[in-house]
Amino acid sequence: MTLPLGIAIAVLVAAEKAPARVVDEIVHLGELGLDGSVRPVTGVLPLVLAARRAGYEKVVVPVENMREAALVSGVQVIGASSLAQIVGRHLAVEKGTDVEDATPPPEVAALTPRQRDLAEVVGQPEARLALEVAAAGGHHLFMVGPPGAGKTMLAECLPGLLPDLPDEQALEVSAVHSVLGLLAGGHLVRRPPFVAPHHGASPAAIIGGGSGMVRPGLISQAHAGVLFLDESPEFSARVLQSLRQPLESGEVVVARQRSAARFPARFQLVLAANPCPCGKAHGKGLDCSCSPRARRDYLGKLAGPLLDRVDLQLRVSAVTRPALAEAGGESSAVVAARVATARKAQRVRLADLGLHLNAHVPGPALRGTRMRLSKAVTGDLDRALDRGMLTLRGYDRVLRIAWSVADLRGGDSPGRDDVGLALGLRTQAGVAA
Ligand SMILES: [Zn+2]
Repeated sequence: MTLPLGIAIAVLVAAEKAPARVVDEIVHLGELGLDGSVRPVTGVLPLVLAARRAGYEKVVVPVENMREAALVSGVQVIGASSLAQIVGRHLAVEKGTDVEDATPPPEVAALTPRQRDLAEVVGQPEARLALEVAAAGGHHLFMVGPPGAGKTMLAECLPGLLPDLPDEQALEVSAVHSVLGLLAGGHLVRRPPFVAPHHGASPAAIIGGGSGMVRPGLISQAHAGVLFLDESPEFSARVLQSLRQPLESGEVVVARQRSAARFPARFQLVLAANPCPCGKAHGKGLDCSCSPRARRDYLGKLAGPLLDRVDLQLRVSAVTRPALAEAGGESSAVVAARVATARKAQRVRLADLGLHLNAHVPGPALRGTRMRLSKAVTGDLDRALDRGMLTLRGYDRVLRIAWSVADLRGGDSPGRDDVGLALGLRTQAGVAA
């Protein structure tokens, strides 16, 4: 059993056992045990951020949480190991005695999470290209292919192609991880997270919620990183539906009886699916035992609002024997360097729109005077639109991909080949128009 440290201090102030003048300007975080010791808590980082926003310059935190609290600049962090120690400190300050507060331990280098490297991927030139384009422009990606085609491995390569998180995002991600008790060692999360929930996980675990205190879900743990849904048609319709809001707004609101909690959830979505429930409807599909209706319904679960927001739609085939004999392709480091250059070009071009990724450019801006491409460049695309092979929404998605392809090769704007390549990367899976 524990008591919030702040409550304990307030009681002592009321009983005139602790000095109100000193306590008033300090936020106290932590839990008090029955033995008088102060215990560490989760979520210290967002709480210290909130204290700073509220105008406080000093916080008391459990010594175990000092490193994490010190990630917030402009706030003095005071460590507490017991109630007696911290009250003694405040009384000393009240009397004007010099107190020497312990300084937070130095930051230790964060362990870089183990990541897959593209050099491990055998063959799959189109999938490699799609991953590179996804990383460059921040595009969501859908992969359909038989079991064993390497969809999971490809998805696991994506975070390694993305740049380090800028300071503000690193703080946001670290705050969520702090609440979840994942901020081991008290260092900022600097690399984009990779989160792959199982399709059997509960909606509360994925979206956020739970009884008692509302906890952020796995989609918030993936904030500023990659959310990978393997066997995505197996996820409940409720989970798939509830991804729409974060895909639109970059945050998720978890409603409760009397309140709502808001968590960041701007992730890059990677969906994978087998071609049908039995997984054998590829090639000639002779071994597939699914009814035509079961096949249609399977991918149909993703169609509409969800796949509408996914730019890249890729068909991944099983690796062929000749490809197995080939040498590995480029490493992630080589591709990540091209991605970084392409992202820089986007930041410059999109600065006055207040954007930094091609995936976020609205349709009117893409087709507006400044970014409009010549008829010669968009000819194939215009025809696909005229013939109803592509919706206007799909048309815009191809343009976004084409800009990323152009940025990757260092071009000023997409040419006809870039648009052709983009059209292939959009329509290959044959699911969404
Ligand atoms: Zn089947």
